[in-house]
Amino acid sequence: MWRVEFGTGSVMKVIVPSIIHVGAHPFRVSRVRGLSDATDNQALSNSTRLYISVEDDRPRTVTTQAFFHEIVHMALHIYNGDEKKIPHAIHDAIAEGFLQLLTEMGIEFDFSGLPVDDIEGSRENWA
Ligand SMILES: [Zn+2]
Repeated sequence: MWRVEFGTGSVMKVIVPSIIHVGAHPFRVSRVRGLSDATDNQALSNSTRLYISVEDDRPRTVTTQAFFHEIVHMALHIYNGDEKKIPHAIHDAIAEGFLQLLTEMGIEFDFSGLPVDDIEGSRENWA
């Protein structure tokens, strides 16, 4: 369940839950320590195995951008069915555009409550 907390000023902090939905599909969201060293990605997702993993050890802004990038991947896959034909730069542009809008609204995302997976347990997901 998504939750929000109100901070000082007009900041609204959105607490990212460990299960989110894209379409009807429940995705497990977790932090993975060492993900970027092991894969050269700040985040990964898979629409068959239904997970979104974000690097644990990055500034919140980097994690948020990478998380949105993966959401765009999954949304294009689920709603469009042909996301591999869409250039990767488009994913980033969509993610950045929405993220800027949300940031200007005073919305921040908090990943600190997510489960932390170890790199070895996650590795089988990437095959
Ligand atoms: Zn990507």
